[in-house]
Amino acid sequence: MSRPKAPVERDCRPCTACCDGWVRITVAGHEARPTSPCPHSTGAGCDDYPNRPLDPCVQFICGWRLGGSPLPDWMKPNEARVIVLFGRTQWNGLPVDLAVPVGLKVPPRALDWLKSFARQHGRPLLYTEQVRDAGRFTGEQTVYGFGPPAFQEQAGQWNADGVDW
Ligand code: SF4
Ligand code: SF4
Repeated sequence: MSRPKAPVERDCRPCTACCDGWVRITVAGHEARPTSPCPHSTGAGCDDYPNRPLDPCVQFICGWRLGGSPLPDWMKPNEARVIVLFGRTQWNGLPVDLAVPVGLKVPPRALDWLKSFARQHGRPLLYTEQVRDAGRFTGEQTVYGFGPPAFQEQAGQWNADGVDW
């Protein structure tokens, strides 16, 4: 399966997972992080939606929101606590999907679903865990690979290299 490219079909509201810094975004100079969400996020929407910038706000479309998304309704990021980005990178000519937790870790139900999808479609999966220091999220993430052993080694190398996801 290639990266879905169909038009957006699903409505974000009331999700603000990307606005709240669980993925790395910079909005009008503000670097959103889990401890420092976009100032316009109300936690249930955007208080300046008509004026939101094109990059990243209009252009960012998570895997759940994509038209034709294979993700079930229950995997909406604010409910399943995971943001999925299809085809985030490539490995050995294969598209690699990325799952970023909305919280510390991707919850088991969502991770099991993603691993099953990865096995079924032969798509290596990267999933991350948010790093905490003294109980505070640092904005860094540890990445894990699910797929062939060589891919898992590659994921370990990306981790050692400090690649940002
Ligand atoms: S994570 Fe996805 S569903 Fe949630 S606000 Fe961002 S684009 Fe919308
Ligand atoms: S400006 Fe609005 S849409 Fe853009 S990140 Fe902030 S809250 Fe989200």
